[in-house]
Parts: sequence; structure tokens; C-alpha cells
Amino acid sequence: MAPKFQGVDFYDVDSLLSEEERAVRDTVRAWVDENLIPIIGEHYIEGRFPKQLVPQMAELGLFGANLPEEYGCAGLNNVAYGLIMQELERGDSGVRSFASVQGALAMYPIYAFGSDEQKRRWLPKMASGEVIGCFGLTEPDYGSNPAGMITVAKETKDGWVLNGAKMWITNGSTAQIAVVWAKAGKVNDVESIRGSRPRTRRASCPYARATRARSSSRTCACPRMPCCPSRAASRRRSCVSPKPDTGSRGARWARRWRVSTKRRATRRRA
Ligand SMILES: Cc1cc2nc3c(=O)[nH]c(=O)nc-3n(C[C@H](O)[C@H](O)[C@H](O)COP(=O)(O)OP(=O)(O)OC[C@H]3O[C@@H](n4cnc5c(N)ncnc54)[C@H](O)[C@@H]3O)c2cc1C
Repeated sequence: MAPKFQGVDFYDVDSLLSEEERAVRDTVRAWVDENLIPIIGEHYIEGRFPKQLVPQMAELGLFGANLPEEYGCAGLNNVAYGLIMQELERGDSGVRSFASVQGALAMYPIYAFGSDEQKRRWLPKMASGEVIGCFGLTEPDYGSNPAGMITVAKETKDGWVLNGAKMWITNGSTAQIAVVWAKAGKVNDVESIRGSRPRTRRASCPYARATRARSSSRTCACPRMPCCPSRAASRRRSCVSPKPDTGSRGARWARRWRVSTKRRATRRRA
């Protein structure tokens, strides 16, 4: 079924998109028309997040859509990912934030800088919406300026201790996993900025309660790990070659896109 919303396209950007990209865009567009727009006004007034849509979004492959299929993701390209976010944003900015924080700010750092074990453990659960992630950079005193950031991470024999405060953290009050930015050295050492990954539920981490509000408690113990954008991590990343996986949910989903795209193209030619 063609989506109700046809869009405005003064520069004919559509013609630059591939069949697959258009198919992805139209599917999400129709989903937004049918499932998000009719209910979002009421949710806004009542101050509720439409949690019931999370499984549907996962089923459509919207979380980490541009990450590889071997982790249960859709394996789409970055343009398709951008189109998905554009369509979600049309429906509701908060729902788009929910999906882009989950995919681009929580899943992507784990994919790019995490160990193989971390990727296998977390990414499939995040793609299926079973685990929700958040990303903690912004602080009450220094906003989103990492150089000014005062949150520090100190290594101990059991892992890391995070000390600091974050605010405006999308998904922070519901997330089970948080990618938190901190300085691993002295507060005035900008070279020591690192991202770490506390499991918010187990560690009862203050960042988990920090959605768009200042976190009250300031210390949090995390398992050993910082997933950091260091040079070593980037080198590790370049060694990871995603294996094709034809059996996963994400793979099946991506195949569905391709099949429906081909069918549509054949119909058009006929
Ligand atoms: C709904 C919502 C969700 C959010 N979710 C998250 C999240 O999940 N995780 C997270 O970490 N943060 C989150 N944030 C925080 C958000 O990322 C920051 O509020 C945003 O990046 C702005 O940063 P800031 O507060 O430091 O503002 P500032 O950097 O202080 O900017 C204030 C103003 O000054 C201007 N400005 C800043 N620096 C300069 C400069 N050098 N030269 C000229 N102009 C400048 C800016 O353009 C802006 O207009 C969220 C915020 C909102 C509103």
C-alpha cells in the first residue's frame, strides 16, 4: 500500500535514491502513518512514551538498521538509515530520538569499539528491543563540551568506578545499558576522554535515572571494560570482518526488503 504522506521534494532527491532505499523509506513512512501519528498526540498530552511500539520497530529492523546482519541488524546502508530517521522524526521527534540513540549512539559504539564478546552479547538484544541503551555525554555544568566534562572513570581491581553527573540523557530512565563518556585521567586532561559501558540495571547506575534531568547520585561501579575510541580500538575494529549470516532475524528482514523491492520494480517494468 502506498503511504498516505507523499512528501515534498523540490530538488527531486528521490531520483538519487536506489529502489531499496525508497522501499525502506516508504515502509517506514506507512508505518508512521498507521501506527505512530494516530496515537502520539494523546501520548504527548499524557506525558507517556509509546512503549508498545518498540517491538514493532524492532520487527521492522529500525534499531541499528545500518549495522551488520550477523548481529541481528538489517545491514542497510547509511542513506537508508537516514531515511528511516527522517520518517520517524516526521511522526515524533521523541520516538526518533529513542531509535537514533538506541542505534547510532548506543549500538554503534559497541559495534565499533567493543570486544567481540560484547558485540555478540549486546547487539542482537538491542536490535530486538529487548535491551534499551542510552548515551551519556552531556553534563549539568559543561553541556556537551567533552573538554570541560568533569565525569571521571578510575580503574580499580574489579573494573571501573565512574564519578560525575549527566543530564538530558535520552532513554536514560529506561535503559539497561549506558555508553557513558568520562575522563580516564585527570579532569583537566582532555586526552583521557573515554566512553565506558555500565550495565545500568545491575550496577544501579545514576545515569540510568538521568533522562533529561540531573542525576542525583554521583558514583557508579562498572564492569571492566572501557569501550574507548582509542587508536588501539580503531585498529581492532579494522580487523573485524562481518560474516554473512542468512539465518538471523535481521537477515530475513533485509531479504524481505530486497524481494519486495524487486517485485515492485518488475511490476513497474511490466
Ligand atoms: C531532547 C534532548 C535529548 C538529548 N539527549 C541527549 C543524550 O541522549 N545524550 C547526551 O549526552 N546529551 C543529550 N542531550 C543534550 C544535547 O546533546 C545538548 O543539549 C546539545 O548538544 C547542546 O549542547 P550544550 O547544552 O552544551 O549547549 P551549548 O554547546 O552550550 O550551546 C548553546 C548554544 O551556543 C552555541 N555555541 C556553542 N558553542 C559555540 C561556539 N564555540 N561558537 C559559537 N556558538 C556556539 C550553540 O550553537 C547553541 O546555540 C539532549 C538534549 C535534548 C534537548
